[in-house]
Amino acid sequence: MAQTSAANETVVLGPTRQLIGGQWVGAADGRELDVECPANKQVIASVPRSGAEDVDRAVAAAAGAFDAWRRVSPTERGRLLLKIADELEERAEQLARLGAHETGNALRTQTRPEAAFVHNTFRYFGGLASELKGETLPLGDDLLSYTRREPLGVVAAIVPWNAPVQLASIKIAPALCAGNTLVLKAAEDAPLGVLLIAEVCSKYLPEGVLNVITGYGHECGAALAAHPRVDKLSFTGSTAVGKGIMAQAAQRIVPVSLELGGKSPVIVCEDADADWVVDGIASAMRFTRQSQSCTAGSRLFVHRKIADSLLAKVAAKMASYNIGDPLDEATDMGSIINNKQFTRVCDYVQEGMGHKDVQLLTGGLPEKDGPLSQGYFATPTLFRSTSNDWRLAREEIFGPVLVAIAWDDEAEVLQMANDSHYGLAGYVFSHDTARAIRLAQEIDSGWVQVNQGKGQILGQPYGGFKESGLGKEMALHSMLESFSRLKTITVNLDI
Ligand code: NAD
Repeated sequence: MAQTSAANETVVLGPTRQLIGGQWVGAADGRELDVECPANKQVIASVPRSGAEDVDRAVAAAAGAFDAWRRVSPTERGRLLLKIADELEERAEQLARLGAHETGNALRTQTRPEAAFVHNTFRYFGGLASELKGETLPLGDDLLSYTRREPLGVVAAIVPWNAPVQLASIKIAPALCAGNTLVLKAAEDAPLGVLLIAEVCSKYLPEGVLNVITGYGHECGAALAAHPRVDKLSFTGSTAVGKGIMAQAAQRIVPVSLELGGKSPVIVCEDADADWVVDGIASAMRFTRQSQSCTAGSRLFVHRKIADSLLAKVAAKMASYNIGDPLDEATDMGSIINNKQFTRVCDYVQEGMGHKDVQLLTGGLPEKDGPLSQGYFATPTLFRSTSNDWRLAREEIFGPVLVAIAWDDEAEVLQMANDSHYGLAGYVFSHDTARAIRLAQEIDSGWVQVNQGKGQILGQPYGGFKESGLGKEMALHSMLESFSRLKTITVNLDI
């Protein structure tokens, strides 16, 4: 098995080819793209740089496998997913280490829990197979009218790099369980963990049921989204690209699900100046994922009465993270994914530091020398501003840059919280639970947490409002609504 060296560790690579029709193949034209370890800027592996011809082959393989796969009973499909779950659980540590190496996310705080989420996802949807059921209508003895759930056909799924194996698994498992076949495009920055999942799946699934391709978005992803034989588009990524995916779906009137960006508000009431709230804010901001999370609570609205005191505690917490080698068990926070994102994050920090109405409470630009300059390591940064109306408070930074704003009354804070084109997540902290629930209900987002800032839970219908997305994932609803269609059959029994 190929191995690659990371600082103090050896990481076992899985496949570095793409899976099409049960075969591990390169790009049709032989092109490749390099995958870099963002913590040390070394190339780990090369994978196929696929284009339209590869997409065509993969879609043809999925289309060819569909008729037989949809006729496999749902419970048998579920049983295969449960076997996949078992092997993914056995190989979870390999998946976690590989993930840390290719994404820069820390092993202990991010990629190990993410690897566990993957096998739990296969197990969860495998167990739901018998829920792919229909209904009968009470129309009397002479008429039988019933509904049945059918798969959609060939699903095209496109995923980003920030939690690549988690996001791939929440598309693969429900889509296949519902009887679809799938072409999934991995992110160019983090394809290796997804290919490892494909390797495990390929042992249990018929050829062509799951195809995983690699390549750049504008080449491979665009060709997949535009392919005329694709019956459903399921996309997770930025809002800008998501709009283009939706436009492609509109051309052919195929269903589309979108999980897009966010700029989620955190509201802290005046009775919540406490250490557990600081922990909740830090967790909501996903600092231990370098805040490369769509649900990051990156706009912090603190009641003015406690703002000085609470923000001092938040700043101290942010300064306490152990940043470094993602594979080191002692590391809390790893590196940003690539140079482009790193430069983007630094540009935002630079802009905040130069803003006359903004106070830098902790962090700033990363050091140019020293061990952390070997990788794309950003510094957790907290700005305090007086207004919600500036670029850092409005745009998704996708890095550990938190903007805090003081508030005085509820109407004002709700107006600021909802003044965003995003609506993915939200967080409220208060000892007064009734008040917190009231505020949570007023936040215009798909998922609001009260008195905690945790990650998604399997079984929760997860998805954004406004420009944060369309449709739900992670729950029975997602399998039924996003990956199957309902047909009604009405039979006259009076003949
Ligand atoms: P991105 O939109 O640039 O890329 C996502 C995927 O789309 C990649 O596989 C990429 O290759 C592909 N892609 C890019 N251009 C394409 C095109 N023209 N046609 C088809 N495919 C194309 O996003 P990113 O920078 O990789 O990921 C970060 C974004 O993803 C953030 O905005 C984040 O909020 C969002 N995200 C959302 C969720 C969610 O659940 N809502 C989860 C994770 C990430």
